[in-house]
Formats: sequence, C-alpha cells, structure tokens
Amino acid sequence: MLSRKEFLKGASATAGIAALASIGLGRKTAAEETVAYADSIAWNAEYDAVIVGFGGAGAIAAIELADAGLDVVVLEKAPYGHEGGNTRYCSQRFLHVAEEDRDKMVTYMKNVRGLYENMDDEVIDFLVDGFTKTTAYYEKLGGVAYELKHDPEFPTFEGSDIVTKCYTMNNGGKGFWPVIRAAAIERSDHIHIWYESPAQRLIQDPYHKTILGVTIHREEGDYHIRAKRGVILACGGFEANNRMVEDYLQLPYAIPLGSPYNTGDGITMALEAGADLWHMSALSGPFLEFQNPNTTIPFRQLMGTLSYSSLKDTSAIIVGADGTRFVNETVGLKHGHVMFHGLYIRVPISLPAWAIFDEKARLLKPLYRVWSQGMEKELEKGWILKADTLEELAETIGVPAENLVAQIERYNAYCESGVDEECGRPAEYLTAFTDGPYYALPLVPAMINTQGGPTRNIECEVLDPRGNAIPRLYSAGELGSFYSSIYQGAGNLAECMVTGWKAAEKILANEDYKPETISLAAAEKAEQIDFAMKDEEFEAGEDEYIGVGYGIGRIVVKVRMDGDKIGSIQYLELNDTLGICDPAVTAIPAAIIESQSTTVDAVSGATRTSQGIIDAVNDALSKLKG
Ligand SMILES: Cc1cc2nc3c(=O)[nH]c(=O)nc-3n(C[C@H](O)[C@H](O)[C@H](O)COP(=O)(O)OP(=O)(O)OC[C@H]3O[C@@H](n4cnc5c(N)ncnc54)[C@H](O)[C@@H]3O)c2cc1C
Repeated sequence: MLSRKEFLKGASATAGIAALASIGLGRKTAAEETVAYADSIAWNAEYDAVIVGFGGAGAIAAIELADAGLDVVVLEKAPYGHEGGNTRYCSQRFLHVAEEDRDKMVTYMKNVRGLYENMDDEVIDFLVDGFTKTTAYYEKLGGVAYELKHDPEFPTFEGSDIVTKCYTMNNGGKGFWPVIRAAAIERSDHIHIWYESPAQRLIQDPYHKTILGVTIHREEGDYHIRAKRGVILACGGFEANNRMVEDYLQLPYAIPLGSPYNTGDGITMALEAGADLWHMSALSGPFLEFQNPNTTIPFRQLMGTLSYSSLKDTSAIIVGADGTRFVNETVGLKHGHVMFHGLYIRVPISLPAWAIFDEKARLLKPLYRVWSQGMEKELEKGWILKADTLEELAETIGVPAENLVAQIERYNAYCESGVDEECGRPAEYLTAFTDGPYYALPLVPAMINTQGGPTRNIECEVLDPRGNAIPRLYSAGELGSFYSSIYQGAGNLAECMVTGWKAAEKILANEDYKPETISLAAAEKAEQIDFAMKDEEFEAGEDEYIGVGYGIGRIVVKVRMDGDKIGSIQYLELNDTLGICDPAVTAIPAAIIESQSTTVDAVSGATRTSQGIIDAVNDALSKLKG
C-alpha cells in the first residue's frame, strides 16, 4: 500500500488518478484510503495467462503453460480455419544447431548481425542456445524431422559450414505448423482458443504500468479478459498494414506473402502501453510478384526467391516507372537483400514495376509454374498486357516509349557481348529480345515477413523507451523479433520456439497478480510549477542605453555615451554561434565607435550577427534621441 508521500513522488500520478476518477472511484478523500485500478474493471473472464495470436509463437507458449497446468486463453483474430498467421503459410523450416556446433553458429550469427549491434552478443547466445533444442522439441510434440540439411544463406560467412535447417514441409502432415497446432488443440483442457477475437488494447494499471489483461472486440461487443500472471503478445508483424509499410519500410505499397491478419495490432497495443519499438525497417523481402486479383496473397516465385527466378532462362526483363531496368532479374535475393558495394542492403525497387517479355518468352514456358502453357488463360483474364510493338506496350503501361525501346536495345547489346553493364545479369541468363508481340505483367513488392515491433530483452519482457520492462507484458515470435538486419532463413520459426518457451517460463515464475493500490489523496491537484523563462531585462546607468537586436539569436548591448559621442559598446547578451560570429563581435563595435556611425560594413561570413549588433546599437541610440 502506498503512502500519500510515496505516491506523490510518482511523476505520472496525475495521469493515473485522472483515469481512476473517470471510472468513478474518486469519491472519498481520506488521505490514506487506497484504491486498486484492477478492481475497477468489469472483467468478463479470467485466465492464468492471455496469449494474443494463435501462430507458431503463441501456440508454443500456450503448450508450455498448459503442460505446467496453467489455464490459458489464446485470442485469435482470424476465423476458425484461417488461424496460424504466417506460420501456416511458411515453408515450415526451422534452424537446428548441433550442441557441438554452438560456438560456430554464434560466430555465424554475429556475421549475420553485421553492423547492427542492438542484436547484441547476449541475444545471439540466447538464440543459439535455443536453436540447439529445436528439433528435439518438435519431435517431442509429434513431429518427424523430415530432413536436416546444411543450408546457409551466406556461405561466405565464417561459421556457415554448420548452418542446418530442419525441413518439415513434405512430410505427411508433419509440417511444423500442423504439428504445433495439433499439440495445442490436444491440450484443450488447458488451452482455450477464441477465434474471431481480435485483441484491441492492453488493460494497464495507469500508475504502476502493470499489464492486467486484454480487451477484445467481437461482433457483440468488447470484452475484458483478465490475465492473472501476464500477457504474451504473439500477434505477428505488420505485413498487411499498408500505412505501417509506408511509414516504416519506405515502400508506397506492398502485399504479404503470408497472413492477411497480421496488421501490426501488437505494435499499436504495445505503443499504447508505453513500449519502445525496434527493428522496424527490417523485413524479409520484398520480392516482385504478380498480385493474384482473386486472393489476398500474390503468386510466388517470379523474381528473387532464393534459388528460383522464372525470368532466368528467357528474354524477359523487369523495368520500373521510367521504363528502365533497376535490378538483375536473376539475382538470388537473400530474403530480399543484395550485396551493395560490400554491404548487404534491401534490394532497391522502382514502382510501378513490370516484367516485359517477347513472344518467344511467352511460348517457352509460363512465368509461374501453375499458369497455362503460352499463358493464354492469363492473357484472356487481362493479367498480362499485350502490344504489337514496344512503343505501343510502353504507352499501354504508361512508361516513356523512348526509354523502353532504348532499354531493350541496350539489353540486346549486352546479350551479344555477354556483359550486362547495367545490372550484372550473368552471361548464361542473357537471352535477347526478338520479334513481337510484346507483353507486360504488373509486379508488386511482396513480403515474407516484418521483424519490427516492441523492443524486448532476452527474458522476452517488453521494454519501455528507458529500457524498463513493462510489468507482466511479454512478446514472442516475429512481433519485435531479435533479427535486425539481414536474416538467415529458418530463423523465424526457431525464434518462435525460443521466445515462446521463454515467455512461458516468465509467466510461470509470476505469482497471481494482487491488485496494486494507490492513495485516493493523490487525486489532490499537485502544486503548479512553472519553469518558463523570460527575456532578461537590463538596467542602464547614467549615460547608458540598452538596445536589442537579432542576429542568429537575441543580442543585447549597453551603449555608454561620452558626451555626444559613442564611448563604448558592451554585450549584455549574445547567443550567436561562437566560432562563426566572433569576427563581427569585435569588428562591428570597433567600426561603429571609430566612425561614430552605425552605417558600417557587415563582416563577411557573419553578416546576420553584424546586422544584429548594428540593430541593437541603433535601438539603444533611439532611446537617447527619444
Ligand atoms: C511464404 C513464407 C515463407 C516463410 N518461410 C519460413 C520458413 O521456412 N522458416 C522460418 O523460420 N520462417 C519462415 N517464414 C516466416 C515465419 O513464417 C514467421 O516469421 C513466423 O511464422 C511468425 O510466427 P508468429 O507466431 O510470430 O506470427 P504468426 O504465425 O504470423 O501468428 C500471428 C497470429 O496473430 C494473429 N493476430 C494478429 N493480430 C491479432 C489481434 N489483434 N488479436 C488476436 N490475434 C491476432 C494472426 O491472425 C496470426 O494468427 C515464412 C513466412 C512466409 C510468409
């Protein structure tokens, strides 16, 4: 229980009390009477823990808690059958590290981290230690390791010789997500999964900042779910939130290759609760793909997926808004990254982007494996645009015709010489354009997943901007992932396991929440303080006059008259930039005194200061005349 004195020490007291007052608890005034915010909420349900998001990370945390005997509610935004977030769409591979390779993997991960040091050594140790347990855990839940394959994304990095992924996809229903999902469903005595129950906001004690529960919104209304031991945010990234894509990824638009339900809600909720954000610009992607108008997700594997580009073997290029190429169409993107002068960066993209190809390419093979031979059906549907000449095609897609024509001429010359001087497409993939008709396929940036979100530490506690843990709030999975720059494939699912385990461990270590109280007396208004500064006023003595001018800042001078002559000029206040204004500071008063006039030349390089001093002296002299 807080005494009034202790309470008043709290900087955010007023905010806390305002919230309490608004829920009608401020009636009594006795100084030591206390009240608990948690008791003021009309709770609709209560569980040991609340997990937001039924994807890989949320499911794993739930399984751990259930196995320890806790009752957990998993709040899922998607309807039944569409749960699973990116985990359900993903390629189902996770990192596996043999115990004896741990140190090598640490070295490799440090190389993957590169210059981004907020993925610090502690984080890497934490992750890699977890990676040594992933396959055994998956098998414990009923999975069968389909294939353990040496598969580093950056083979030139030291340590890459041990990077291993556990492939689980083509494995008779034993893919990662089906196994994890089934394990969660099997534990329905302890795990309650609520579909179509999007979390809207965290319920937070406004003074102590403790997270007490979650408000969800269902068609019928809002419900407040109490978490006795804590809340885990595991609701994925912001791939499907175009506003956040624009704000954080410097892309005007992009579409997710995975879940349409990952709209960054965890970021909004965490921000409201006072969390800091990190890794907001880190993402896997973008690739350039055709957006299937009939689904929420695009077709995959046109350009840049790790080992496959259908543009490789044919006369097809990608152009941007000005009708010119900006990328090696056959490059093996490292989850969206390319080598740029010795540093991996996200592949630069011009938009709108188009795949351009000729008749020969159309007949060779469909750009997507699932498309019709000759892409006749896709032409019929209007997905692919056709024109007899390049000029007409340029007009159809709205790029400058002269640029497109000149681009194809240059590209054909590279095919002849075997050297792509613009984008470095390898000689074996340089196939020249021949006769029309010509075709254009619109492309959009498509993302695997984002890594940004609320900052967390290796305890999976969500942190505020000062690095303090927000009490009883944890995160797991790709929401606020530890990955901050380039990324080793299969690292996200492995992280889902490692963070899901840790967040669950933290909840298990918590005792049931006992409502924290504050003193009602704290509602009394705090004493008004005012740090506002006023311009200093200076006093003039006999034959002295004060004047004010403005150079870069305020300049105040005292002019002392010697009879009817200017005797001296003294600075009372001068805030211009030292090192720049200095010549004017000495030269201007000297010139004024010598000439007995304020019509003096400004000092070059310090003209604003010069004028400010002159104005200040004029201001002082005007008082003499007045
Ligand atoms: C095409 C593709 C291939 C990939 N391949 C791999 C791979 O092979 N290996 C790998 O490691 N990673 C891969 N990834 C990345 C990986 O899938 C994700 O990073 C990982 O699955 C994220 O898991 P998660 O549990 O954090 O989030 P998710 O699995 O996305 O789950 C988040 C859940 O939260 C729900 N949700 C969102 N908002 C709310 C809300 N307000 N209230 C309640 N619920 C909410 C969502 O509906 C979703 O079910 C791939 C991704 C894609 C798209």
